[in-house]
Amino acid sequence: MRKPHLLLYPAATIIIVCAYLLGAHRAGNEQLEQGQRQLQLMAPELQSVLERFETLPFVLAQQPDLPNALAHPNDPQAIARLNQTLQTIQQQAKVGALYLMDRNGLTLGASNWDQPLGFAGKNFSYRPYFQAALHGDAGRFYGIGTSTSEAGYFIAQPVRRNGAIDGVIAVKISLAELERNWNSSEDPIVLADRHGVIFLGNRPAWRYHSLGPLPPEALAELASTQQYTGRNVTPLARNPGPRVTQEVGRLGWQLMIFPNQLRVVRSGINWALAAALLLACGGVSYWAMHQQQRRREERQAFDRELESRIFQRTQQLSETNRILRTTQNELVQAGKLAMLGQMAAGMTHELNQPLAAIRAFADNARTFLERGQPEQAASNLGHIGDASARMGAIISQLKGFARKDETVGPVELGRAVRSSAFLLESECKRCNVVLEIDTSAAPLTVAGDTVRIEQVLINLLRNALDAVEGRPQPRVSVVLSREGTDGVARISDSGPGIPQEVAAHLFEPFFTTKPAGQGLGLGLAISSSIVQAMNGRLSAHNMDGGGAQFELRLPLIEEGAAR
Ligand code: ADP
Repeated sequence: MRKPHLLLYPAATIIIVCAYLLGAHRAGNEQLEQGQRQLQLMAPELQSVLERFETLPFVLAQQPDLPNALAHPNDPQAIARLNQTLQTIQQQAKVGALYLMDRNGLTLGASNWDQPLGFAGKNFSYRPYFQAALHGDAGRFYGIGTSTSEAGYFIAQPVRRNGAIDGVIAVKISLAELERNWNSSEDPIVLADRHGVIFLGNRPAWRYHSLGPLPPEALAELASTQQYTGRNVTPLARNPGPRVTQEVGRLGWQLMIFPNQLRVVRSGINWALAAALLLACGGVSYWAMHQQQRRREERQAFDRELESRIFQRTQQLSETNRILRTTQNELVQAGKLAMLGQMAAGMTHELNQPLAAIRAFADNARTFLERGQPEQAASNLGHIGDASARMGAIISQLKGFARKDETVGPVELGRAVRSSAFLLESECKRCNVVLEIDTSAAPLTVAGDTVRIEQVLINLLRNALDAVEGRPQPRVSVVLSREGTDGVARISDSGPGIPQEVAAHLFEPFFTTKPAGQGLGLGLAISSSIVQAMNGRLSAHNMDGGGAQFELRLPLIEEGAAR
């Protein structure tokens, strides 16, 4: 995860640089397009200024004052008239100057005759416009005036006398006004001649510098025409950068705009900043997603760990439960067997009694038969049947009681109470105990195992019998009642009750107050766990009138379910 992070830095730098270049490129193109549009507006304006006076010299050449002056160059009157005419027209047409030259280039008259730097008497034969006009063509030229040092655009036409060219009339137009208009533009706007020499523009420092090095022929031509009088034309010190150009006029001029590069750089920086911002946002989102993913993975790992722990615990618990249940079952069984042992004496007595009765009835029956008293014999046989039935009942109870398996089904509490009491009948007799049973609330059906419920009841009854043994008027009662959704059996005795120190340990296994051999201390502990397993409750308290009362409470099931 670390290595790709290191690669991200150069990648981000490349993206930012690309964004800068793209932004700058777009802005540069936009600027050039805008410049092109601006040029398209400016070029016609310049063209119209140059063209406006294109016909003026031609028209002037038709003026009679001009050939007249050429015919009489030494006539002051003819020259004065010429000067006057030229001055009037110059003022009307609002041009820089108007002047007439003879065949040698000497200025005979000029509109600025009355000014100190007037053209009169100056020779312009070296100017290309003069030479072109002398050859019968229209002459056009841009240059710095040799006498006024003011730059201007010159247009010249031949002046004919008697059909032959005898002189040249020229108009000088100032472009200063146009240049002033360009000053409002932020971007450099210049006009360069066909050699690439800047002669007009809103950057005075660039004037009379060429856009590149000039070839020697061009330099020679500039010198011979004195186009930029006294100026040493050198290339611009610094490349002015990208530009848009448009050709204007008849002299191969180039109108140029150099869009401001600062805006281009600024746009590039903006793009680079936007890219950096986007990258930062992307980085932050990536980081947040990465963190979230990590947390999710941690949580999943934690969940898996938890699940496996829960699984282990559950397994341990179910194993423990299994062991506990086995132990409990074994305990219950042990308790039963212990109880059987305790009951053995009573049982022997119980079985011996009918057995002795059977023997006596049998002996007597034989005697009755020998005496010829068959009715008496039959009656004895009936008693024998009763006694053996009773023995069978006792044995079947014991068999059921000793059974280990648990079968769950509907158990009627009244019947369970009577069966238990039946098993303890001989014991009650031996102890002279009156066992009162009230099952008037029956049927009370609960879900459970008959043998186990009887085991609990026998336990409670045996404890009650133990408690009343040797007491005056020993009495034990079992009363059934229905309380809400529970069936309740209350086993009360007229014993000494449960001492406080015993009550705290009543349901603990192996707690007994009985002498060794008589009590194991398991009865109540086992009974309590049996009752709990059936969702019931076993509790004990002392009664107001003396004696203890044990309460066995079990949830009833619906009558329909019992059947
Ligand atoms: P065990 O009968 O073998 O002693 P139990 O768990 O059945 O074991 O009884 C524990 C103890 O509770 C008895 O030793 C006795 O002290 C006390 N106990 C039980 N039932 C009664 C009762 N009805 N009256 C007084 N004490 C009782």
